[in-house]
Amino acid sequence: MADESQFGDFGGRHVPEPLEEPLEGLAQAFDEIHDTDAFQDRFRNLLQDFAGRPTPVFHAERLSEEYGAQIYLKREDLLHGGAHKINNCLGQALLADEADKTRLIAETGAGQHGVATAMVGALLDLDTEIYMGKKDAERQQMNVFRMRLMGAEVNEVTRGGSGLADAVDAALEDFAENMDDTHYLVGSAVGPDPFPRMVREFQSVIGQEARDQIREQAGQLPDAAVACVGGGSNAIGLFHAFRDDDVAFYGAEGGGEGGDSKKHAAPLSSGTEDVMHGMKTRVLNDDTEVHSVSAGLDYPAVGPEHAMFRAVGRCEYQAVEDDAALSAFRELSELEGIIPALESSHAVALTKDLAEEMDEDDVILVNLSGRGDKDMEQAAEMFDLS
Ligand SMILES: *Cc1c(COP(=O)(O)O)cnc(C)c1O
Repeated sequence: MADESQFGDFGGRHVPEPLEEPLEGLAQAFDEIHDTDAFQDRFRNLLQDFAGRPTPVFHAERLSEEYGAQIYLKREDLLHGGAHKINNCLGQALLADEADKTRLIAETGAGQHGVATAMVGALLDLDTEIYMGKKDAERQQMNVFRMRLMGAEVNEVTRGGSGLADAVDAALEDFAENMDDTHYLVGSAVGPDPFPRMVREFQSVIGQEARDQIREQAGQLPDAAVACVGGGSNAIGLFHAFRDDDVAFYGAEGGGEGGDSKKHAAPLSSGTEDVMHGMKTRVLNDDTEVHSVSAGLDYPAVGPEHAMFRAVGRCEYQAVEDDAALSAFRELSELEGIIPALESSHAVALTKDLAEEMDEDDVILVNLSGRGDKDMEQAAEMFDLS
């Protein structure tokens, strides 16, 4: 049987000994539980009634006219919480519940994943503790307030540089100590097995819905599917249903300041192969400072399946610079009355480039992974809106 933990040369479970056992237990629970009728009924019901699925596909006609191809947006921005993150959080929290865990932990950078975890922790009455670097907590106070309001404990980590990497360390220690009753809710298709395949499973509803919707609306499969890539969960969630189709995949990474700058978040376009966070994948080179205008793309590595897609040529990844993403943010807002998340704006910007090379009636399906409400303060400053 194929080793499910591997994606070509990438993936695996590269962890210290104390984490082997809880991860093996989690992999077994996932394999046993996730495709039972009981689990699927609960998951589908909550995706519908709690999260707001199915999300529509919208033919963005004015944007299509402007960019020069037929552009369809998968509206994950309309979900509860404002992004696709709820799909994964619901799936993992339900799995934890079915496996008789009573406690969730997660780490969060900008706070979006922490908020989504707090939502499902409240919903399923699971004790929830979120690790967040103290610096991040100070910058993202509203998200800290949201998490606390929903009953989560926010643990502000002060070790090291008080950032995301330090929060990951603290969460891993917690997990190793409390594995009997605790589930570590990982926020993207990254980390040691089984997380990449588990997160893909829970996010694949995006592409399953979109495949039917676009055939209905455009009368064909898309010529191209486009998504932004941080850890890679919304992208793999869109792509998975089209993996055996003649659909070209494009991933937009955080290209940061661009030019010769060593400030970006594009391990697929310019990183190297290495082991990080429990997986073999592509990671940023040592001399690069992780940076993107959107916090959700600020991750030094990427999910292993994307590293494989790149290696075999199934998906083309491009680094989209901050300025291009900001222009797309503005264009979608002005032309369609939809304010996208800055992360998703990278996918829209890449779509603009692709459309220039394509025919006017070619169909591009873009995953609008989230809405831009969270980015308004930043936008107001950058576009001088006050
Ligand atoms: C978190 C986030 C991302 C990045 O995560 P992926 O795992 O790469 O999908 C992208 N878009 C939005 C709106 C997010 O909140």
